[in-house]
Amino acid sequence: MIETPVNAQAADSGFAEPVLVVDALKKHFPVKRGFFGASEQVMAVDGVSFAIGEGETLGLVGESGCGKSTVGRAILRLIEPTEGSIRIAGRDITRLGNREMRPFRRELQIIFQDPFSSLNPRMTVGDIVGEPLRTHHLASGRACEARVAQLFDRVGLARAQMGSYPHQFSGGQRQRIGIARALALNPKLIVCDEPVSALDVSIQAQVINLLMDLQRDLRLSYLFISHNLAVVEHISHRIAVMYLGRIVEYAGKAAIFTRPGHPYTEALLSAVPVPDPKIKNTTRALQGDVPSPVHPPSGCHFHTRCPYVVDRCKVETPLLREIAPGQHVACHLR
Ligand code: SF4
Repeated sequence: MIETPVNAQAADSGFAEPVLVVDALKKHFPVKRGFFGASEQVMAVDGVSFAIGEGETLGLVGESGCGKSTVGRAILRLIEPTEGSIRIAGRDITRLGNREMRPFRRELQIIFQDPFSSLNPRMTVGDIVGEPLRTHHLASGRACEARVAQLFDRVGLARAQMGSYPHQFSGGQRQRIGIARALALNPKLIVCDEPVSALDVSIQAQVINLLMDLQRDLRLSYLFISHNLAVVEHISHRIAVMYLGRIVEYAGKAAIFTRPGHPYTEALLSAVPVPDPKIKNTTRALQGDVPSPVHPPSGCHFHTRCPYVVDRCKVETPLLREIAPGQHVACHLR
């Protein structure tokens, strides 16, 4: 049997039936050029496959505009996928209607990048955290209040603050409120969409440590989306690197950081600061901007920025291939 990327990913996750399996997912957005202009497609996500096991974190990294947040939103069915499939604990949820999706909405939650704009400023934070419980008719009144108090304890917030409003909290505390809200329904999988990018570095570490503690205690699975490889290093078990709507490399964390297989991964690593001034970073920095996803470069999408480009790269799309156990790379030269 020819191993497809998603089969390989599922096997790498170490679970016979992973919590999440995404297979050949595509999301294209129609756009119009000018008033009478022809309709074109933004290929935000162009055939992405991966799997996440129970208690596992998959880091999804790439520059802004590479489609990683669109992947997260499509998995949650906040936007409709164009093609491909999404399975949660073995059940295909790709085309489920609103009613059929309801039980799965409890199992899939999201933590947003901006903890301030994602919290309703007119609600107390206790009400914000309890809202999913009331919406799903799981608790009301004192039972809801007691559950919210437990969640506050769990994320390191004081119960006395349940009656306060979002503007009375710091950025890190607001992100803890967002995490408590995501935990309210005992989800299986949380999409963490750049959850620490808006926070100071010292606070970032606290929030990441909290997410790791919660994962250990509750066997949570995370899809951790970030533009910064240094941020995903600490929390991820495996990492998928995205470029212009496609995964160009996925591998265990150690492989990504010690022997990256794709020139784009190499370039992202060169942007990660090295804490020791005696160590010289010898990898090549990334030049130029990400090309438009409306007209992505032919062949390998990365060929316009790749320092190793050869003629073949401009006409032939490289497929993901396993270049070492558990390390999959889409590059003609590997
Ligand atoms: Fe660079 Fe070619 Fe490999 Fe693409 S296929 S990453 S352009 S060497």
